[in-house]
Amino acid sequence: MSGQERKNREIWNITYPKGIKWTKQRKCVYQVLLEAKEPLSAVQIYNRVEKDESDASYAVSTIYRILAAFEEKGMVNRTNWLGDGTAVYELNRGGHTHYAVCLDCHKRIQLSSCPFAHVQLEQETGDFIVTGHKLELYGYCRECRQTHEKESGHDGNKPYTEMPSADV
Ligand SMILES: [Zn+2]
Ligand SMILES: [Zn+2]
Repeated sequence: MSGQERKNREIWNITYPKGIKWTKQRKCVYQVLLEAKEPLSAVQIYNRVEKDESDASYAVSTIYRILAAFEEKGMVNRTNWLGDGTAVYELNRGGHTHYAVCLDCHKRIQLSSCPFAHVQLEQETGDFIVTGHKLELYGYCRECRQTHEKESGHDGNKPYTEMPSADV
């Protein structure tokens, strides 16, 4: 990134949430999360963070520490990816997002709305205050179904492997 681009970036009017000490590194991580269109792992964030000579101490562990601080303040949501269990983070923007996950290529497709939006969760749970929920849909994307159809002549609409264990 050139000096000019960096300057432009600083002009950006970012409002940082209160209640946390904003170091330069924390601001950088926050910017990356702000620009991200999808949840990111600490390594992905590390790769996107601007680094210069003065940031020689930067390491993925630094990112983890920053993310832990953000998480403690409720600024980010952490999810563990199906499959390899990688922890990924996205900014808590007030709303939340659900994903359909392809069991073959692990592509994640963002749902346009929350399937629980019209469900009275309190009614379902009895004397229980619901403060959040998680939901991931598992299946096969079109590309993977087509690939398998070609390979095996299998009907692409039918599942052909077992579902993962349900403890996610
Ligand atoms: Zn797929
Ligand atoms: Zn939801």
